[in-house]
Amino acid sequence: MKSLWNEEEAKQYTDELGMRVYTSQLLGRDTNLVLHGGGNTSVKITEKNILGEDVDMLYVKGSGWDLETIDRPGFSPVKLDHLIKLANLKSLSDPQMVNELRANMSLASAPTPSVEAILHATLPFKFVDHTHADAIVTITNNEKGKERIQEIYGDRVVIIDYIMPGFDLARLCAKQFAEQAHEKTEGMILLNHGIFSFADDARESYERMISMVNEAEEYLKREGAWDLDFSGAAATPPNIESIAKLRKDVSVTVGKPMILSTVSSDKMMSFSQRNDLATISQQGPATPDHVIRTKRLPMLGTSVSNYISQYESYFQTYAKNARDEKTMLDPAPRMVINKELGFISIGKTAKDANIVSDIYDHTIDVILRAEKLGGYRALSGQDIFDMEYWDLEQAKLRKGGSSPEFTGEVALVTGAYSGIGKACVEDLLAKGAAVVALDITPEVTTMYSRADFIGLECDVNDEAQIKNSIKKAVLAFGGLDIVVLNAGMFPGGCQIKEMETDVWKKVMSVNLDANVVLLREVYPLLKASPKYGRVIFMGSKNVPAPGPGAAAYSASKAALTQLARITALEWGGDAIRVNTLHPDAVFDTGIWTEEVLQARAKHYGMSVQDYKTKNILKTEIKSKDVAELVSTLCSSSFSKTTAAQIPIDGGNDRVI
Ligand code: ZN
Repeated sequence: MKSLWNEEEAKQYTDELGMRVYTSQLLGRDTNLVLHGGGNTSVKITEKNILGEDVDMLYVKGSGWDLETIDRPGFSPVKLDHLIKLANLKSLSDPQMVNELRANMSLASAPTPSVEAILHATLPFKFVDHTHADAIVTITNNEKGKERIQEIYGDRVVIIDYIMPGFDLARLCAKQFAEQAHEKTEGMILLNHGIFSFADDARESYERMISMVNEAEEYLKREGAWDLDFSGAAATPPNIESIAKLRKDVSVTVGKPMILSTVSSDKMMSFSQRNDLATISQQGPATPDHVIRTKRLPMLGTSVSNYISQYESYFQTYAKNARDEKTMLDPAPRMVINKELGFISIGKTAKDANIVSDIYDHTIDVILRAEKLGGYRALSGQDIFDMEYWDLEQAKLRKGGSSPEFTGEVALVTGAYSGIGKACVEDLLAKGAAVVALDITPEVTTMYSRADFIGLECDVNDEAQIKNSIKKAVLAFGGLDIVVLNAGMFPGGCQIKEMETDVWKKVMSVNLDANVVLLREVYPLLKASPKYGRVIFMGSKNVPAPGPGAAAYSASKAALTQLARITALEWGGDAIRVNTLHPDAVFDTGIWTEEVLQARAKHYGMSVQDYKTKNILKTEIKSKDVAELVSTLCSSSFSKTTAAQIPIDGGNDRVI
C-alpha cells in the first residue's frame, strides 16, 4: 500500500477542512481501505460563532457520504466540548445519541454526523482517520488475531476487543486510550472491525494509516499469506433460465423485484469451485457493517427455501438476546455462490447489487489470506445479528424515501439508439428500471455509463446475436420483465408497381420476422418475471389507416399487430401482457431531417409547424410522449389490460 499524497493536488486546499476533504478522498480512492460508505474521518477546528466567540468544533463525516467523493458539505460540525462530556456518561441510547449529535451541530442543514462521532471527539488529535482496511481485518479475523497485532505493532497501537460501534465503543476507546496511550502511540486497532490513525497534521494522520496498513500487508507477505491464485477455474456455461428462476424465488421472498448480477471473474469462479467452500464461505462478513448489504452468509446451492429456513432460525436464535423487540427483515439472500452459476450478487437496484459484489470481491481476499494465516474466524452470529438489526444501520438503508415505479425490474428495448427507442430507454431508466438497449449502431454501447444500463450492438435479424444479447441481459440483471419491440425501418415512399423484391423482404425481415425470434427467446424469461411480463409492440397509424406508397411498411406493421394479438392470446395464461401502440407523425426521429420535413410540408402546401400538428388535437407528438405512454402501459394502471391497440397520433379522422 502506497501513499497517494500529491503535492500539486494538495495545494488546492489551503484550510483545515479542505485538507480533511483531500485526505479523506485519498483514503476513499483505495478500495483496500474502505468500500462504499465505509470508514470515517474528522478534523477539530476552532471557529467563530455568530456572536464572535471562539468555539471548538468537530467536523466529522456525515452519515451516508462516501469517502471517495466526499466534499465540504459531507462533514457535519458538532460542538466538541459537548461530545467529550457525552463520552463521560455511563450510558446513552442510540436515539438519545443521534439526538445529541444533531442538536449540537452549528449548521442546521448538515447531514447527521457519523455514529462514530463521539469516538473521534475523544481522541486528542486534530485529524482522525478510520478505515476497515482489508489487511487489518484479515489479521484480526483470526484465532490469534490479537497476538499477531501485538507482534506487528508492539505498543504503538491501542488494541480494542470487539464491541459494536456506537456509544459503548466510543466510551471504551476513550477509556483505554487514556490508560494506554503514550508519546509514541500512532493508532488504534479495533479487532474484527478496523483501524484508527491520528495526528495534528492531515498528511501525517493519513500517511500513518498507510504505513500501518502497509506493515500489516508486509506481515501477511512474510507469513506466506498474501499471494492468491485464482487461475484454473473451469468456465461453466451460464444457464439463463436457472438465473431467472432464482430471481423470481428471491424477489417473491423479498416482496419486490430484485436485480441479480452474475460475476464471472476468475476470482469469483475459482472461489465458487473450491472444495472447502461450504466451510470458508459460511463464517460471516469481514467487518460487521457489511452485513446490511450482504446479509451474514451467502446462499450455497440453488434452494432459496433452504436459505429462508436457515435465516429464520438465525433470527430466532439471536433476536431473543436483543435489547428490544426485533422485526425480521426479508429472509432472502443477497449473495449466491455455487459451482453451476458462479457468484451472483443481489440488490434492489443494479447499483446495490454491484456494491454487494465489490464487498465480496474483497471478502474473498480476506477469507483466503486469513485461511493461509491459520484460519478465517469471523465474529459470532450474535455480534453480526446485533449489527444487522441495529436501528442506526437500518436507517442507512431506509434513506432515500420511496422508490420509482420500475425499481428492480429489467426492460429490453430494441432500436434503442435513437428516436422513440432512445426516449423509451430514458423514460424507463428515470422510472427505476434497469435497461438493456439493443441497436445496430455500435455507439449504443456507450450511450450511458451507469450501473443500471447496458447497451449492446445487435442486428435483430441475426438469431445468434439476439440470443447472445439476451444472455448478456440476464447475466447483468437476472431476467427480463419488460420488452419494447421498437426496432423498425421505413424504406421511403414506393408504389407497388415499382417495388423491389429485396426491399420488400428487408422491411418484412426487420419489422416483422426479427420480432418473432426475439419473442420466442424472451418468453421463458418474461414467464419468470416476479410481477408479470409485459411486451409493447410499436405499431403505426398506417395499420388502421394506410396510405399509398408505403406497402412494405404498412403491411409489415399490420402483420406485426396481428402477431401482437396472437402473442396476447398465447401468453395471457402466463400473466404476460401484450399491448400495441400506433404512433403517427413523430418527427423528432432519425428519419425526419429538417430537409425532409420541409419537402413534405411543401408537398401539402403547409408550413412545417402546421404539417407537424396536422391532427385533430393540433398537437405535436414527440418521441418522449410515446415513451411515456409505453411506461404507463407497463405500469400497474394497465395491469388488467392486454391486446389493446392505442393510437398516439393527436387524433386522426381516418382512424376514428
Ligand atoms: Zn468502522
